[in-house]
Amino acid sequence: MSKKTPAIAAVKARAVITPLKRPVRNAFGVIDAGPLVLIDVATDQGVTGHAYIFAYTKMTLKPLVGLIEEIGRELTGKAIAPCDLMAAMDAKFRLLGWQGLVGMAVSGLDMAFWDALGQAAGKGVVELFGGAARPVRAYDSYGVVDPVADKEALLHSLDQGFRGIKIKGGDGDAANDERVVKGVRDLIGPDVALMIDFNQSLDPAEAIRRIRRLAPYDLTWVEEPVPQENLSGHARVRAASAVPIQAGENWWFPRGFAEAIAVGATDLIMPDLMKVGGITGWLAVAAQAEAANIPMSSHLFAEASAHMLAVTPTADWLEVLDFAGAILAEPIRIVDGMLTARGPGLGLEWNETAVAKYLV
Ligand SMILES: [Mg+2]
Repeated sequence: MSKKTPAIAAVKARAVITPLKRPVRNAFGVIDAGPLVLIDVATDQGVTGHAYIFAYTKMTLKPLVGLIEEIGRELTGKAIAPCDLMAAMDAKFRLLGWQGLVGMAVSGLDMAFWDALGQAAGKGVVELFGGAARPVRAYDSYGVVDPVADKEALLHSLDQGFRGIKIKGGDGDAANDERVVKGVRDLIGPDVALMIDFNQSLDPAEAIRRIRRLAPYDLTWVEEPVPQENLSGHARVRAASAVPIQAGENWWFPRGFAEAIAVGATDLIMPDLMKVGGITGWLAVAAQAEAANIPMSSHLFAEASAHMLAVTPTADWLEVLDFAGAILAEPIRIVDGMLTARGPGLGLEWNETAVAKYLV
């Protein structure tokens, strides 16, 4: 069957604030709800592409909705050829730069474009790239935990089959980090992967000190020990660390990864679909990771990441931190600690009753 490429008929964006199963406390504060922007790209062929982005704070919801719809108006009538559209948006925002809200809007639109193409073809996005949906190993992503107070929750994660747990550090002193890491390691046993995320909260010297103290507890990675833009600082910590360094959720578009990889900033990378340039950007970073032999994990966006990790040659771990479950017709389902991509497209169908309930 040979069909015309669908074209963009209209772009709509809506803001919702979703409830979370558990709040996420980090070194800088608490995320107690999910401020999301839902994107709908209607096409001239009946299908509508869906994607969502995470606004981090409700203060950015309105500007993101406006940006996405404004860019959408500009692109209306164009064929959904995501690589061409990305080039067109690059030209449009070259002088402004697309770190920040513009990059989030562009990445979200790109995800919705690929979703529309998958739906139009009756295939999962993973299949558009020559892959097949397969179980991808997932870890359960926590905020700051207390091994005593959060014991039930952590054990429940293991009951669900998770073979990896990530916790946050840096919200207290080094002794507290050690107490928590030791407590969680004792609780989950030696065979479950344990990661710790400092969310950019340390300086290189302090990061090196803390990692040295935590290394005996067999950590799979230490994430963003220092500010994300401090690439040489990451490289310095990495050189002194017995634990692999993980970073990438805050690096913008494939170019950001090229620079980080060039200076040896990290052992492992974890692009965020909303900051890397959507599906199109992810593909470019997956190629960099393959060429440099760098294991690649995902950040948030479990539904779409399950598609992309299945076609990422160095695929490592999928993060499960579920901001969207409350507004999806079919929330993610972890089976034996794994997540399998669902189609067609990215497999994102809104639960409109829930969307109406949480609409801002
Ligand atoms: Mg992180």
